Amino acid sequence: MNTLLWFNNDLRLTDNEALQQAASNTARLLCVFCIDLQWFKQGRYGVQALGAARQQFLNESLTALSSQLEQLGQVLHIAFGEPTSTLGALIDKHHINRVVRSQHSGFNENQQWQNLKQQYPESQFESYDTFTIFKHEQLISLDAFPSSFSKFRKIVELMPIDAPLGRPEQLPPPILTSIQFDALKKLSPKSVKTPLFSGGETRAITHCKNYFASAAASTYKETRNELAGWAHSSKFSPWLAAGCISPRFIIKQLREYEYEHGANDSTGWIFFELLWREYFQWLAKHYDERLFCFSGIHHKKPLSSFYPQRFKQWAAGNTQWPLVNACMRELNTTGFMSNRGRQIVASCLVNELGLDWRCGAAYFEQQLIDYDVASNWGNWQYIAGVGADPRGGRHFNIEKQTRQYDPEQQFIRRWDGDTALQFPTDHVDAADWPMA
Ligand code: FAD
Repeated sequence: MNTLLWFNNDLRLTDNEALQQAASNTARLLCVFCIDLQWFKQGRYGVQALGAARQQFLNESLTALSSQLEQLGQVLHIAFGEPTSTLGALIDKHHINRVVRSQHSGFNENQQWQNLKQQYPESQFESYDTFTIFKHEQLISLDAFPSSFSKFRKIVELMPIDAPLGRPEQLPPPILTSIQFDALKKLSPKSVKTPLFSGGETRAITHCKNYFASAAASTYKETRNELAGWAHSSKFSPWLAAGCISPRFIIKQLREYEYEHGANDSTGWIFFELLWREYFQWLAKHYDERLFCFSGIHHKKPLSSFYPQRFKQWAAGNTQWPLVNACMRELNTTGFMSNRGRQIVASCLVNELGLDWRCGAAYFEQQLIDYDVASNWGNWQYIAGVGADPRGGRHFNIEKQTRQYDPEQQFIRRWDGDTALQFPTDHVDAADWPMA
């Protein structure tokens, strides 16, 4: 048996069932990560799918994975191109009869998987739930997909969670022995000046252990809404999004922390937030392409239009709202923004600027280091009132949020959010011609 393992959102060795299964009962193993050239092209909303911050994080994560595999005598092959045809070529060339990957919540990623399956009906295809807390078998029995997070939480919160798997001690020999890793250099990202995060499983585990070695988890609920501060929230998201760490691994660390230091509202709230992530994953799987539709999962068309100038101002952090500017400038510089910041700028785009929420979601996709298809598009739908929010959308009062979360305007000054006030919302005429 020759097996191909398609690495994707699971860039780790620990608690990676796809890797464990791929390595069993096979003579040789081909480990592949596919870099889709579409990620670098300008998409429908004038932005690309993969921006510099996440690209850098991805490169680091792949480099780390490659050297971990090398220690086990394996090779990470980086393939460039559209995944179905690129993987198809590898399947043909290396007589692959079994293809394994982790489950994905993304519609496009699942289309690619289905296309590949159809192309190779003789081959065996297997996928495993490595990105989520729960497994497909645990949720398949639900009669209908829960219409709100609260309903989902009530169902899953008492479900058993599998203990994380260890890392494999050995792997079958590689099918491709020459390291094709140089190709990664082709990506040559514009380097992010002061990266907050660096990719890879070792960094992820170290970060997670450091977080739970501190007392931050015991005050998480009080601090999680702050706009800035390294320990005010867990900062697990970039590693979770790339799959450098699994949610089950984090939950195990959380339970150990609670056992040692006591559980409280804050530690419970970390689990609660991980369940939000989980909800969005299963929601994305359930609604497929509706996650990207203007009218959302509920077929509800919001009142909005497209004003290119407003979108440009919002994206650059040049609006009339200093807090929004500061958040956007932080995002553009670091690839990260707090959850509170994300809610405020998303609400601003939808409610104050009257823009199509998908432009904001696409811009976040490009800029966020922790971009995850389900969490991003699901949260945007939620705020735009076309998603899973039973209240039908959120409108944040920016002045009130500023008074509450940045009363001294420190955050605004830190990111020069108040320097853009010379721009009123529309400084173009009806034909988009800039006005003096
Ligand atoms: P913590 O507050 O420490 O939370 C712990 C973990 O719980 C996070 O790492 C994350 O995995 C999960 N989590 C927390 N809040 C949410 C949430 N609202 N939805 C889903 N998961 C959550 N998160 C992403 O991981 N990727 C995205 O692309 C993304 N896009 C977003 C877009 C918008 C408009 C909004 C409002 C939120 C988005 N989020 C996204 C959710 C959230 O903002 C981030 O997960 C969080 O800010 C990451 O910081 P942290 O790891 O310190 O989170």
